[in-house]
Amino acid sequence: MVRDIKHWKHLYEEVVTTGLCTGCSACVIACPHDVLGYDAQSGAYKPYHFEQDGGATDCTHGDKGCTLCTRACPRFGAWEPEIDTYLHGRVREEEELSGIYQEVCLTQATDEELRNNGQDGGLVSALMIYALEEGIIDAALLSGLEGDGTTWKAVPLVAKSKAEVLAAAGSRYTYCANPYGYADAVAAGAERIALVGMGCQVSAPAAMAARRAGKIARRFSLTVGLLCSKTFDDAIFDELFDAEYGIKRETIRKMNIKGVFQIYTKDGGYHEVPLKQAHAWTREGCLMCPDFAAEHADISAGGIGAYADWTLTVIRSDLGKTILEDMENKNLIVRKSIEEDPGALKLMNKLSAVSRKRGPQGAQSFTKKIEVRPSMPS
Ligand SMILES: Cc1cc2nc3c(=O)[nH]c(=O)nc-3n(C[C@H](O)[C@H](O)[C@H](O)COP(=O)(O)OP(=O)(O)OC[C@H]3O[C@@H](n4cnc5c(N)ncnc54)[C@H](O)[C@@H]3O)c2cc1C
Ligand code: SF4
Ligand code: SF4
Repeated sequence: MVRDIKHWKHLYEEVVTTGLCTGCSACVIACPHDVLGYDAQSGAYKPYHFEQDGGATDCTHGDKGCTLCTRACPRFGAWEPEIDTYLHGRVREEEELSGIYQEVCLTQATDEELRNNGQDGGLVSALMIYALEEGIIDAALLSGLEGDGTTWKAVPLVAKSKAEVLAAAGSRYTYCANPYGYADAVAAGAERIALVGMGCQVSAPAAMAARRAGKIARRFSLTVGLLCSKTFDDAIFDELFDAEYGIKRETIRKMNIKGVFQIYTKDGGYHEVPLKQAHAWTREGCLMCPDFAAEHADISAGGIGAYADWTLTVIRSDLGKTILEDMENKNLIVRKSIEEDPGALKLMNKLSAVSRKRGPQGAQSFTKKIEVRPSMPS
């Protein structure tokens, strides 16, 4: 019998060099032989193979049977039907534009500090703090800012306390490979790990679990997805915000995207940059991404809708549902029915439909018509 061994060589040909690679770093953290590196420089955000053991395009460990990188990659093979089937026992219907979920609602943290620091309702940070304090997780893989924050370079951050979660609150719109913090979390003794990140990232633990990737799959215990239609290259700070608007990165306090790029500066200033102008700095890894609504998370969170200080919350898994109910019972969050803001749900589906159009042509169309690729052998 010929074994279906798909390794770095195949990942390189099918994902890394075709535009499908989002730069999530899942292949790098899953590699048990440490032959993959990650280029986090502006304009790159890509994995690469070290020169030893096969060179850039091949892997001698892969030739001997190692398949961990392809098992971890949330853009390899027919990933959507494969993951949907693993998580929900079925593939999403074509009309389920934002993926399979149980409920959509609006949430807000009751802790004022979380509301003030959070991007929208502070739900994501409240949830991470709850999961750490309840012992559901030992660590959370988040995104923070390097150094004193003045460069606005987003970097992976491992949080094990409320203070560390708070330090990561808010959104940066440049890319940050949050899964990359995995090795540091494990080195710090974490066995149950939460991942917060965009859809391209939170699909990774689900891909690993669906393809039986072993210990790394078992360690990911909770995923919170961030709604996302694109991220921008770091060069946008100098080449657009500074060059065109005179906004220096070190003066920026907070950013948001609500139809336009909203930039709040430390001196109390407020600037708007049209999204149309910013599009030229769209990161390459986002151009073929079909997943706006972070469809493979336990809970997905976004900021669209009529209520600025609330988080649009998509409850997908039983775990997500149980956690949110317990948080509400413990008065850590308050909830509003989505019926109070039906436009938010409509807009999420509209934006999901837009992202769906840029999925890979000819590969998988992500509907139930596609046959699920059998799991790879161990
Ligand atoms: C790049 C990006 C694009 C987004 N696009 C949309 C959108 O188009 N529409 C929409 O409705 N919502 C979008 N969101 C989600 C939104 O900005 C909020 O993150 C979400 O509503 C949760 O708000 P909160 O107050 O509950 O989260 P908070 O409590 O503020 O927690 C936010 C979490 O996001 C993490 N994070 C911040 N920046 C990054 C980053 N660059 N990469 C990875 N993780 C990060 C932090 O670690 C933090 O844990 C986007 C978020 C990001 C990061
Ligand atoms: S999408 Fe992620 S896992 Fe797949 S090749 Fe790119 S960085 Fe690796
Ligand atoms: S659009 Fe968002 S979810 Fe998709 S690849 Fe880019 S960062 Fe990831």
